[in-house]
Amino acid sequence: MRKKRDAPQAPVPLKICMLTPEYAPFAKVGGLGDCVASLSRYIAQLGYEVKVVLPKYSTFSLPSSVIEHPQPMIVNMGYGIEFAKVWELKEDNLSVYFLEFDRYFNRNGIYADRHGDFGDNHERFAFLARAAIDLCYYLNWIPDIFHGHDWTAGLLPVLLDTVERGRPLERSGSVFTIHNLQHHGYAPHSVLSFLGIPDHVFRPDGVEAFGQVNMMKAGLYFSTKLTTVSENYAKEIQTPHFGFGLDSVLKFRAGDLIGIRNGIDETLWSPEHDPLIMHHFSQNDFRGKAQCKAELQHYCRLPEDPTIPIFSVIARLYEQKGLDYLVRILESVLGQMRLQFVLLGSGDHELESQFIHIARHHQDQAFIYIGYNEPLAHLIEAGSDFFLMPSRFEPCGLNQMYSMRYGTLPIAHATGGLTDTITTYGEHPGTGFLFDDLSESALFHAIGKANALYYDQPEVILAMRRKAMEQDFSWKTSAERYVDVYRWAQKY
Ligand code: ADP
Repeated sequence: MRKKRDAPQAPVPLKICMLTPEYAPFAKVGGLGDCVASLSRYIAQLGYEVKVVLPKYSTFSLPSSVIEHPQPMIVNMGYGIEFAKVWELKEDNLSVYFLEFDRYFNRNGIYADRHGDFGDNHERFAFLARAAIDLCYYLNWIPDIFHGHDWTAGLLPVLLDTVERGRPLERSGSVFTIHNLQHHGYAPHSVLSFLGIPDHVFRPDGVEAFGQVNMMKAGLYFSTKLTTVSENYAKEIQTPHFGFGLDSVLKFRAGDLIGIRNGIDETLWSPEHDPLIMHHFSQNDFRGKAQCKAELQHYCRLPEDPTIPIFSVIARLYEQKGLDYLVRILESVLGQMRLQFVLLGSGDHELESQFIHIARHHQDQAFIYIGYNEPLAHLIEAGSDFFLMPSRFEPCGLNQMYSMRYGTLPIAHATGGLTDTITTYGEHPGTGFLFDDLSESALFHAIGKANALYYDQPEVILAMRRKAMEQDFSWKTSAERYVDVYRWAQKY
């Protein structure tokens, strides 16, 4: 008699510990906070157990559903022990732990305040890495995988590979995600003894760079698997132009480096359901978009004219975003083209004042909002016609995906995740406008092309809007790819 085949076995659920400096909506500076929050939720929905660890910064207050653990946890530092208070927010398979430790986190900012970056950031996040490991012991919970994000988590895999040898967490694998390779997190050599890490890791093919500890490099050398937030960026960072001095390390680890595009949280960012906009719309009915446009023009004190296209920007105003190219041509754009311009952002003070100065002279055409404003960000995405992203580099970029979901066509430099997510006009019908070399004239030309199409061929713009809104930027495929990576990184 033929033997019955065994029924296929359900995959064993994984246990994942996420270590992150940001988690939306509580602590968010940029896309990292959005990415970790939606990825964690998605992985938990797939049936895996996820625990997220981040500091309890004093920049936000916790909701009433958060519980305080009665016992403080012990954090085993190299010099002795510290105590941290543990707060937990629980939803089904997902628990978010906020660790309270006033010396490092009771401040007016996440990485910086109005005086600039905190001088002890390396110590603050080295402490957090140790605390994430000790939280697992405190909870008596052994994760299969630690998943760290950017340089702030870079010393965690080093701890697993040294201090934790011969201890229960030795069996945990590690995944390290690069959200932005620009920030390395340099620390003095003493950060190793601060955590009790032996000195032998302080070598060029370890954590050392220029006589200091490079926390990003530590994460790249010591993690089991590496990911970054788009396929194109995974290739770019292996070249000297985009590698910020770590391209050779990334080439060395190329076989373990996987590019996975970020998804977007469609419960928050969708024209059909967005809780922060008053008028909803879809690719078959744009009436709500026209109403959002009128509302945006009203809010920005611009002429409420439905026939004028709105070009917008939402960004951190730093060199990466390439907005210095835009500010240099903005006078000519406003002078030569019939359009309106809206910018929401903050950062470099010089750039902020350049934009404000131009807007002051073109009050009927331009509006600048310096600051952070989540509802306005949603209204801009919904009410604009075009969205500008002349980034020097862009690991993934979220705003171009948000824009496309709202039928707002991105105009972007062809780099990183922008290339992966936008198909350019001409590739019928295209979901936006990409330009290859970053220069004032290329940007001017792209804005001019979009503007001309808007007036001369509205049917092409409509087809592009519809195509953009059809794109699938959900987390589904990306979250499943992360699960594959977790399985590859599992040690036992
Ligand atoms: P990055 O992470 O480099 O800042 P992303 O495009 O990946 O760039 O993500 C930026 C995120 O931050 C988006 O969710 C964007 O809407 C948001 N954001 C940036 N600046 C502001 C601002 N001033 N007000 C509201 N949201 C902002």
